[in-house]
Amino acid sequence: MNERNTKQREIILQTITCSNDHPTMNEIMEKVKEKDEGIGQATIYRNVNKLVASGKVRKLPISLDNVRYDDNSTPHDHLVCVRCGQIIDLYDNNYVNDKERLEKEYSFKISGVSTIYEGVCANCQSNIEKR
Ligand SMILES: [Zn+2]
Ligand SMILES: [Zn+2]
Repeated sequence: MNERNTKQREIILQTITCSNDHPTMNEIMEKVKEKDEGIGQATIYRNVNKLVASGKVRKLPISLDNVRYDDNSTPHDHLVCVRCGQIIDLYDNNYVNDKERLEKEYSFKISGVSTIYEGVCANCQSNIEKR
């Protein structure tokens, strides 16, 4: 790992951390290029996947064509608004209890969880009522 690579990876991690929450790969690419035009798409792609593999960044496959990245590695779930696409972090879960129960029940070693609740956010609900 040379100095240039380390610097690039830092820029990429910083970009995800400073994004307004859960950016897509395209958004990450655009922002990284604003900071350093010399970083190619393949490099960004590779580094984001490395950050995911090392657990620094979480990958959120909300749907096939909507994959988001999350720099918050604390276990949490997500509420996703189907109208505006807003993603809300949810820390109120029974992950620990469920993990033990499910591991026993299915003899499966769980390494992480990502539950996505779909629905309509408060903002969109009041917009619907106003109409
Ligand atoms: Zn909404
Ligand atoms: Zn999140």
